[in-house]
Formats: sequence, C-alpha cells, structure tokens
Amino acid sequence: MADKGFKNSLKRQMLKMTLIPLTLMTVAIVVVSVSIVRKSITDQIRQELIGDAELVGFTFDKFYNGDFHLVEGDDGEMSIYKGEQPLNGDDTLMAQLSDTLNINVSIFYNDTRLLTTLSDSSGNSAVGTKVAAVVKNEVLDTGSSAFYDNVMVYNTRSFAYYKPFAGADGSVMGMIGVCRSGEDVQKQVFRYILPIIGICLVVAVFFGFIMVRFNKKLADRIFKMDRYMNKLAGGEFDYEMPRELMQEDDEIKSLAHDGKKMARALKTLVEFDALTELNNRRSADKKLSEVRIRMVEMGMKYCVCIADIDFFKKVNDTYGHEMGDEVLRMVAAKLKKGMVGKGFAARWGGEEFLLIFDGRELDIAKRELSMIMDDVRTIYVPDTDRQITMSFGLTAMIAGESTDEALSRADANLYEAKEGGRNQIVCK
Ligand code: GH3
Ligand code: MG
Ligand code: MG
Repeated sequence: MADKGFKNSLKRQMLKMTLIPLTLMTVAIVVVSVSIVRKSITDQIRQELIGDAELVGFTFDKFYNGDFHLVEGDDGEMSIYKGEQPLNGDDTLMAQLSDTLNINVSIFYNDTRLLTTLSDSSGNSAVGTKVAAVVKNEVLDTGSSAFYDNVMVYNTRSFAYYKPFAGADGSVMGMIGVCRSGEDVQKQVFRYILPIIGICLVVAVFFGFIMVRFNKKLADRIFKMDRYMNKLAGGEFDYEMPRELMQEDDEIKSLAHDGKKMARALKTLVEFDALTELNNRRSADKKLSEVRIRMVEMGMKYCVCIADIDFFKKVNDTYGHEMGDEVLRMVAAKLKKGMVGKGFAARWGGEEFLLIFDGRELDIAKRELSMIMDDVRTIYVPDTDRQITMSFGLTAMIAGESTDEALSRADANLYEAKEGGRNQIVCK
C-alpha cells in the first residue's frame, strides 16, 4: 500500500502511537524490575553479610578466648592478639570462613588490614592496606557497624559490612570486615533479571505485533476510503467501494455507506437531466465514446440519431412552459422505454434527444426507430387534442470516422426531416 507522500500519514501516526508507548512501557517495566530485584538482592546480601560478620566474630571468640589487644614485640613491631593467640600471619581460620561463606574477611587494627583473605589478581595479599575513608569515618570514629552496597575494597567495588570491636579498655580498636565483590552480585542480579527482560520483550513483541496488525488494517481501510473519495472527486462515480470498508460494523462502514450514497447522488446530478431523468449531454458524449470503442473492438455496427420535437415552441407559447416541461417528460419516457435493449436515449439539449442503437445495421435501427416514432405520436398535450410529433435524423457510424462526423451527418438528416415537413425519419 503506497501512501500519497503525506508528511505524517495516518499509518505512521498510528504506528508511533502504538510503538512509542509500548517501548516506553517495556523500558519502564524492565527498569522497575531491575531496581526491585537489585534492592531485594542488596537487602538479602546485607542480611547475609551481617550474619557472616557475627559468625566470624563468634568463631574467633570460640577459638581464641579473650579480648583483642596489641602487643609490642622485641623488634618494636606491633602484633594483634585475641586472648593468647597472635593473629598476625595466621589466616587459616579466616581462609576456612572465607571458603565456607563465599566472602572475603578482614581483621583491621584501626583502619589497616592486619589479617585478610583479600588479594589482587596477581595474588598480592591486601595485608597492610587501609579501609576506604568513608568507612573509617563512619565505623571507627563512631563505633557503630555499617553496611555498604558500593564501596571500594582493595580496588574493587564491593558490598561490605564492617563491625567494630573494642580492646580491653573498651575503646574501638579495630573492625571485622566482610565483603563480596560487586561484580559477583551484578552477575547474580543478571541471572534474575535476564528472564524478566526476556519475558518483557516477548510480551512487548507479541502485543506490538497485534497492535501493529490492527493499526495497519485500520490504516489500510482509511487509505482505501481516501482513495475512493479521490476517485469520486475525479468524477469516477462507478468506482467500486472496496469490500474491506464494509467488513466491520464501525464508523468506516458508515462512512462507506454515505460515500456510496454521495456517489449515487453526484452521478445523478452530474450525469442525468433533472427534468427528464435521461442521461444529459455530458454523459451522453462520454457514453458515445465508450460505445464507439466497444463497437470497434467487437467489430459491430451502430447507429446514432438526433430527434427533435416538432413545433415545440408553440406548445410552450400556447399551453405554458410548465405544460411544455410535462410534454418533455412524456416524450423522454417514450424514448427511454423505446430504447430498452437497443441502446440508450439522452437529452441532447432543449427539446432535442440523442438515440444510440448498439450493434445494429441502419435498416434494423430504422425499423426500430419507426416504432418509437409511432409511440411518440400517441402523446397529446394533456387535456388537449394537440398531438406531439418528432423529426429524426438517423445515420450509421462509418468505420474509422469520429463521433462528431457521425453526429453532424445525423444533424443534417434531422434538418432535412424538418425541411421535408417534419414528423418523419431521414436516414442516410
Ligand atoms: P421545430 O419544429 O423547428 O423544431 O420548431 P420548435 O418550435 O420545436 O423549435 P425552436 O427551436 O423554435 O423552439 C424550441 C423551444 O424549446 C424553444 C425553447 O423555449 C423550448 N425549450 C427548450 N428547453 C425547454 C425546457 O426545458 N422546457 C420547456 N418548457 N421548453 C423548452
Ligand atoms: Mg430544436
Ligand atoms: Mg423542435
């Protein structure tokens, strides 16, 4: 279906109206779902990390009874102890906890990692590195635990939970830190999100397909209605109404009904004479050309006749114009009836008529025309004894000549009929 180059055709507008909201809705559903899933996973990780930190603390308490405290070695280096156990360098317990819980564990003295399972991609341990400044400020300085869903832990964005611990004097001495890399969590989020995105896309494509199909059908029908109206505007009153327009019981069907009525009304107005209800001269000209083409194609003969009411002016002058109109109607009705099955009659102008005899030789047309002439003779001006007669100029179309040539010969014959005393046929 080619549109007529509208800048913003209905089809395009309807497509936009369908696809833009659908796309926005799909994006919104995906974004909301991602944030809900991310939030619930974050909450879950928070709970897990809190539990893990508690477990680490509990495990350390269980294995190494006593407080965390610092001891200065002979070389002046500080070591951290838990009860009697020096913690520096001994990461067996930490490694086990890390493996079991699938997290990284660090023990901090102040903001420095003394013991940790963290290492970089080259295997360098994070021992001796410092916690992010924000954690130092919020955990060490205030003495309260904190959870972070996006904090730098040894150069990796991570989820982390820090729990401060106090020394023997009760002041904050360090922290237990547990963390999981953000990348791991991201992967987990994706595992949940991908099916949601997949389902959203499938549903969006499904609805999109249905809506586009529906809109396309509607736009096609409107396009066809538009084309029908264009044909009408161009004078093609017989252009057939596309069947799709009548399929649904909707406004387009009603529009199509009105369009058909309009076509009929316009056709009557443009092609028919209001007084006699015969084809007018304009449509007669068109029909004449059509008949000529058809007859030439079929290799058949046909005849044209111009008929004129005799002394019609006198009818008007004697009985009035309205009576003249009535006589015109009566004559037209006789001509129309007489031409049924033979061709057609048209009002050529004033009190003149054109008769076309389809597919007939001149002698047959003449015989049929005589019968019509006899029938016209039965007309009387209503309620008077004034008989109506007509003169006829009949001729056969000669192969290769134009309709104008045939018509002027018919006209000449009519003139001769008038000159010859009227009420007769001249046929040449
Ligand atoms: P002729 O036998 O030579 O044809 O004589 P005529 O009187 O019929 O011819 P003329 O051309 O002198 O007059 C034709 C008349 O037809 C003149 C005009 O007023 C009348 N006429 C044309 N159209 C109409 C019409 O629509 N209604 C009425 N009542 N009269 C019409
Ligand atoms: Mg005349
Ligand atoms: Mg006349």
